Amino acid sequence: MAIFVSCTQPKKENRKVIVVHARGISYPEMQEYLTATKSDLFFKRNEKNITKLTPITNAVTISNIASFETGESPSEHGIVGHLYVKKENEKLSLVSGFSQPFETETFWEKADLKGKKVLNIGSLTLHGKYITHKNVDALSQGTQIGKPIILELKQISSNDNSLVKYRNSNDEFKIPELQNLVVYKTKDSQLIFDNDYNFDNGFVKEATLGNWFELDNNLKGKWLNKSSDSIQIYVRPQYKNKGYPKEFIQSINENIGNPTGWPNIGYYTSKKIDSKTLLEEIYSELNHIMKVFTSTSQKKEYDLIMIDYPLMDRIGHSFLGLKKSSKEIQLEYKNAFSQMDKDFNTIEAFAKKNNYDLIITSGHGFSPIHTSIDINKFLTKNSVNTNFNSKDWEAIGIPAKVSSHIYINDNLSIENKQKTLKKIEDAFSYLKYKDELVVDEIYRREDLNKIGLDHKNSGDLFVLLNPGYLFENNSNEKTFWGVPKFRGDHGYSLKHKESYGIFISKIKCHDCHSIDISKTIEKRLFTDYSSN
Ligand SMILES: [Zn+2]
Repeated sequence: MAIFVSCTQPKKENRKVIVVHARGISYPEMQEYLTATKSDLFFKRNEKNITKLTPITNAVTISNIASFETGESPSEHGIVGHLYVKKENEKLSLVSGFSQPFETETFWEKADLKGKKVLNIGSLTLHGKYITHKNVDALSQGTQIGKPIILELKQISSNDNSLVKYRNSNDEFKIPELQNLVVYKTKDSQLIFDNDYNFDNGFVKEATLGNWFELDNNLKGKWLNKSSDSIQIYVRPQYKNKGYPKEFIQSINENIGNPTGWPNIGYYTSKKIDSKTLLEEIYSELNHIMKVFTSTSQKKEYDLIMIDYPLMDRIGHSFLGLKKSSKEIQLEYKNAFSQMDKDFNTIEAFAKKNNYDLIITSGHGFSPIHTSIDINKFLTKNSVNTNFNSKDWEAIGIPAKVSSHIYINDNLSIENKQKTLKKIEDAFSYLKYKDELVVDEIYRREDLNKIGLDHKNSGDLFVLLNPGYLFENNSNEKTFWGVPKFRGDHGYSLKHKESYGIFISKIKCHDCHSIDISKTIEKRLFTDYSSN
């Protein structure tokens, strides 16, 4: 792979770079939009600069981010999956890839160490190899406080048709503002919240059907239904800005306010909220990111600006499995691309005006999913002892989205180890769902170097599923099959065309691989262009 720096670029000192990580735009979907759109915004104007991008083999969120930022494969940076087992002094502990520092430096840490000023917005981790950074202003996706809840308000009196009294019957809900609350429905589409049984002396809040209303403490509620004997109010948890240094976060708190946080895909899948409500959450999260970009990018002269742009990842996880059969979802995909067209246009204009090179990459594509597998239930059913607490456990699988590391008990005899490996390989090879093979590839430890997963924390076996399937524990006692929370996911093998992402830049990228982008950025940031 090679990224060529075009000779016709004007020679400038101190090249500055904006890199947008718009995770999850797949190459086929990008092409679909380009064919259909009449807009002459960002994408059409940059059509010749849009390249197909090869992701790492198992591009689950955090492994993809670590590879993109360090320019190394998981073998080197050590983030071998969404979840895996960390081996220290013969002790095995389950870790999330998000919690682990990378074993190699990221491009933005190299910039920091060389005194370059970095702005990092919307990131999913605030660390790379190191935990603290001197020249970096960083804002992550935020901190969630509390849980979302659906408040069920029961009717307690009805004197006439225009004034019906309701009471919050949910004792678990500990928000002071909503305790002892009396709710009056004055019209079919209007609610009045009061706390003293007398709303002639004023009231706490008003709400209209289907619209968000704000409660104190940055809580947002939405009146969902129209049923006559109860009222359902969806209340989102609080979110706070999170990042460093303190002054930077403080200025975001003061100038922009708290974020609304990430979308509640779980509530959508379990039909507690509808697609409209979920989309409102998705776009309000995005709105915060774009506001932060507009407000912070001007304040300091940054050498490197990084934006994690979450839209397509949210849309993919929420809806992709429904796209084929739903006109409404197809329209939402078009809308999402139009939104990106506008936002990237804004970012491009800023880049041009302020002399930045612009790079937009999606890291990976997206595949629809429909069925989950509880790996340890599956192994148990295939007579593998997965009871980690028993002395003679044989193997344990770590469900990590589209793949799973499987660890074999080191205390087994060599013969039993081989038997267990074979037993698991056979079970997975023949696993079918409605006549379709479920497993894409099974790798033994010694073959993991072929896909950049050769690391001491990797499993003795690594199972990569076919698109459509995902490893997730389920509470169904009868079967290892289940319904996943998400409708789309990423990290499937490179055999599937929808696994591929995009790279957009005036900097040409031939045979483009996500691992090589960091080198391009470093080259722009650290080469002294003034001498030639
Ligand atoms: Zn994702």
